[in-house]
Amino acid sequence: MADLERIDHVASLVAARAEAGEHLAVIVSAMSGETNKLVGLARGAAGDDAVAEHFDDEYDVVVSSGEQVTSGLLALALRRRGLKARSWLGWQMAMRTSGDHAKARIQGFEDSALQDAVDGGEIAVVAGFQGVTDNGRVSTLGRGGSDTSAVAVAAALGAETCDIYTDVDGVYTTDPRIVPKAQRLEKISYEEMLEMASLGAKVLQTRSVELAMNHGVRVRVLSSFAEPGAENPGTIVCSEEEIVEKQVVSGVAYSRDEAKITLYGVADKPGMSAQIFSLLAAAGVNVDMIVQASARAEDRANMVFTCTSGQSALAREALEAPGNGVEFESLETTTDVAKVSIIGVGMKSHTGVAETMFKALYEKGINIDVIATSEIKISVLIEAAYTELAVRALHTAFNLDVA
Ligand code: ASP
Ligand code: MG
Repeated sequence: MADLERIDHVASLVAARAEAGEHLAVIVSAMSGETNKLVGLARGAAGDDAVAEHFDDEYDVVVSSGEQVTSGLLALALRRRGLKARSWLGWQMAMRTSGDHAKARIQGFEDSALQDAVDGGEIAVVAGFQGVTDNGRVSTLGRGGSDTSAVAVAAALGAETCDIYTDVDGVYTTDPRIVPKAQRLEKISYEEMLEMASLGAKVLQTRSVELAMNHGVRVRVLSSFAEPGAENPGTIVCSEEEIVEKQVVSGVAYSRDEAKITLYGVADKPGMSAQIFSLLAAAGVNVDMIVQASARAEDRANMVFTCTSGQSALAREALEAPGNGVEFESLETTTDVAKVSIIGVGMKSHTGVAETMFKALYEKGINIDVIATSEIKISVLIEAAYTELAVRALHTAFNLDVA
């Protein structure tokens, strides 16, 4: 909702559905760019030192205000259309969260007033992204958190579906800016969507997908730009059972925000890996891929792991700290890497998927550095310069290009 014009457009979409007899709760996010601005203001006021530390609860008070504004504006725009509507802030509906400010987790809301309002035909315009802690403080859910607010409200109200209107018209087989032949998926399973979301396809906040999966909420991602009544099927995120035609590979995801850290000559003895990864965990480093192999020297091994590029300095610091109990010869960090992944529930029951993937990359002369797999995905770490080429090659190799 970039400006008043866009808010009015959203009001027209909501109005069309209300006039068709639907009972609605509409969860809003802030106007575009607004949250970034508010984060900047909070930083400015708190001082740079506060940034390195955790923001305190006043950060949430500041950044949650963007949603307060849009909830009021949308309610006004709906009233102008003669509809019954009112705004709901997090604390007004007792949207309870944990006390982890800036990344609070929803615990649910028990206030039946919202349910009554919606049942009574009033459109509830809910400020997303925000909640209230047990201490009565305002909290926020982490960037992109209004998706999670929407799923939480849908679950609590027992909604038929949770429609996420956004600036794309669905979830694509890959990033259409890289592959113009990417296709909109009609359906995608929660598991696949989780992989897509955490692998860099930034359509939905990862936590919203987890929540939807746990509560069995069907989520539909669709365009907020479409005219009311126009065809706007979007992509349905649902359980695997609902997807009849399972693709071997549903999508290709990539992330350039990767760092690879190699520890050469790690002492090859029990407890060393435990020590390395407990240090990393203590430093708050989220480790992704891990590979260990024995080195040439008999009592040594080499260890490779990846994390986001933003965390690589933290990782390095933790591992190089004197007296930390980790023995290795040298450490090398590179951020010149990207992770490319293929994702699909059909992989569970198909063989030869890895072969197709590796062959496609080989044919483009792309060297694979690290490989990681799960039941429904295969990820490779490659040189960053080859990201687009790899994504295109894999999209073609798995027959995802639109005809
Ligand atoms: N306004 C918040 C953000 O920009 C929440 C959201 O948009 O989902 O992160
Ligand atoms: Mg968003």
